[in-house]
Amino acid sequence: MNETYSEEFIKSLRRFSSIKKRIVNKIDKIIQGPLIGEPLKYDLRGLYSVPAAKNFLIVYSYCKICRKKGDDKILRCHDCTDMMDETVRFFDVGPHDKVYKN
Ligand SMILES: [Zn+2]
Repeated sequence: MNETYSEEFIKSLRRFSSIKKRIVNKIDKIIQGPLIGEPLKYDLRGLYSVPAAKNFLIVYSYCKICRKKGDDKILRCHDCTDMMDETVRFFDVGPHDKVYKN
């Protein structure tokens, strides 16, 4: 499995260092089985989220699913076609409200 991390994601990981360990554990789980996430809606369509703590979400895409759904034509996984199918892309991590605002 390939992984990519957005700048925003890395920044947030630093910012929320108190629960970094929990986040990293969840990242491992997502990489092992990217289908565990909840699909997001509206302008986050095509992305998935997994909670790392209460009201604290990791937001990612899985490019194999992007393609299947045609979600690569919409939204955030904009350079999806340059990615291999087996790629998990981490976009953001943070409190529910922050993630949805971005
Ligand atoms: Zn994609």
